[in-house]
Amino acid sequence: MNKKYISGAILLGLALIIAFVTGSDYMSLRELPEITPGPGVTKVVMLSDYFSDLKDTPGDTPVYIMEGENPGGKSLILGGTHPNEPSGHLAAILFLQNATVDEGTVFVLPYTNRSAFTHNDPQEGSPQSMNFITRDGEELTLRYGSRATNPIHQWPDPDVYTHQASGQRLSGSETRNINRAYPGAADGNLTERVAYGIVQLIKAEDINLTFDLHEASPEYPVINATVSHEKGMGIAAVGTMELQFSGIDIALEPSPVNLRGLTHRELGDYTDTIPFLMETANASQGRLRGETSERLALTGQDKAYVFAESLGFLYVPYDEKGHSIEERVGRHLQGIIEFTKAYSEQYPDKPVVFENVPTYEQLFASSDGSDLGGPRIGQYLIK
Ligand SMILES: [Zn+2]
Repeated sequence: MNKKYISGAILLGLALIIAFVTGSDYMSLRELPEITPGPGVTKVVMLSDYFSDLKDTPGDTPVYIMEGENPGGKSLILGGTHPNEPSGHLAAILFLQNATVDEGTVFVLPYTNRSAFTHNDPQEGSPQSMNFITRDGEELTLRYGSRATNPIHQWPDPDVYTHQASGQRLSGSETRNINRAYPGAADGNLTERVAYGIVQLIKAEDINLTFDLHEASPEYPVINATVSHEKGMGIAAVGTMELQFSGIDIALEPSPVNLRGLTHRELGDYTDTIPFLMETANASQGRLRGETSERLALTGQDKAYVFAESLGFLYVPYDEKGHSIEERVGRHLQGIIEFTKAYSEQYPDKPVVFENVPTYEQLFASSDGSDLGGPRIGQYLIK
């Protein structure tokens, strides 16, 4: 055979191998790590059990149900609304793997916008995963995703995104942001249908209290804060004071009435639940950050942010210790503990009582902050 054909065949073969390897790697992003339920989980269902149109779509997502021995109220924890904000995803996982519920029922969604976990934001250099050693010494890889639904699952974006319930107009890419889609729409795009499914869950189960767990860049004004719908302000005020007494500096913000599509506004307006949205400081999504890596997502240690702090650009204190994932997850879990207590005191006929949730003290405050990322939080994770 002609030499030319042989070298051509070899090159074609190599190209196919490279295409196969990189293609498989890319396709594997669509499969997400399964989250092992802890001893307090009594049932796992799917969001499509509340809104059947989501069945077999990339938006369908597991709902972990933790029923107490005694009846009571019901609460819902939304982790992973924005999958590039890892503390919300991890706090939901730590809750469902560790907590046991005594009174009432807790529902947990670790993958609220499941589709958004299957890709990264373009041109951000985000890590694709976060790695931990579990308490049994096993390796556990969790995903770092995007703020918004994967365009493979919802395309194209309109030039202008119009929020169905209010007519509010936002830039086109916000059409894939589930926290601009509530109360959702049964006949809407995938993001609106997932939001609608969550609203159906809240209505069907008569959820009393909802937590939506987020992070924000250190230069964003609403940070280390809880945003509450007006009907939750009494509970939020008591909970915030308790958090401050225990040494957690946290602000309380009222949900703006003219900012539409967000959990703290629409879930409060369209359902009977009392919604709270909590924010911690995540340098890996900030605009002033230096090198973007898994390490940054887990430690928050970044010279660029220490410098930005010295210039007065930030809304949180920032030094070389950063803001570790232990601190950020600890804030979320301690917030859930205190706001739930305040709720149960105000509604003693429908209490939600749980134990064994890792506290801020256990996760963070008792350490000197010298070790990085994974090891301490890993003690509370199972594979
Ligand atoms: Zn967010």
